[in-house]
Amino acid sequence: MARMLTLEQLKKKSEKRLNGLHPVFKLVMEKLIDRCYARGVWVLITQGLRTYAEQDALYAQGRTKPGQVVTKARGGYSNHNFRLAADFALLLRDGRTVSWDTLRDDDKDSLPDWSEVVEEAKKLGLEWGGDWRSFKDMPHLQMVFGITTAQFRAGKRPTQAQLDAVLAKINSLETEDEPMTEAEKKALEALQATAKQQSATIEELKKYNAMPEIPAWAKDACVAAKAAGIVEKTVGRSYDFYSLLTVLYRSGLVKG
Ligand SMILES: [Zn+2]
Repeated sequence: MARMLTLEQLKKKSEKRLNGLHPVFKLVMEKLIDRCYARGVWVLITQGLRTYAEQDALYAQGRTKPGQVVTKARGGYSNHNFRLAADFALLLRDGRTVSWDTLRDDDKDSLPDWSEVVEEAKKLGLEWGGDWRSFKDMPHLQMVFGITTAQFRAGKRPTQAQLDAVLAKINSLETEDEPMTEAEKKALEALQATAKQQSATIEELKKYNAMPEIPAWAKDACVAAKAAGIVEKTVGRSYDFYSLLTVLYRSGLVKG
């Protein structure tokens, strides 16, 4: 029986691996899990940090020990040794089975789930092992800032500026495509309707206020008021303006 995992439950399954990663890279990988989950794809982190000893043991596999060759890197020659690489796989809907099938489409959107993960990974600035020419490493993702393993071995590490750039990128992605909730959409529509109505009302008021021409009965008053220097502009004023000016003119308070 398929049971829907919450995002928290899904992440929990990768927690141990994630915790071994460089903190900024860990954040990126967490974002990857989030973004894929939002698309209906469940990502599991199957490998994170490997110590030199672990890497050497893995290297021995298929060489001096039984099994298949799974790596061409010995201790110190893999980015996994420097906390900046991780391997992923898909978690099936039973919440238990791990899959490396790159063609599965469990969310039935006609896109292979594996490709969806890769797409999101690239948006986050990750390098994918499937793009390598010589040895395609389909589950492998890394963020190495152009630093080679030789440089890593010599102690070189990403600069603060490089790490800050990664964080900025994550933030910009988040604000860019944060989906609006139904309530937010409704509120926005209501606001747009109000604005439209108000601008129509304002247009009406403008028409009402600014008369297209000086009414015949106010012409003398306008000429007089202008000549007296009481008003500068007598064209396009409101009915009230002409009315008041005319009253003043007729009462003799405005003399031309
Ligand atoms: Zn890897």
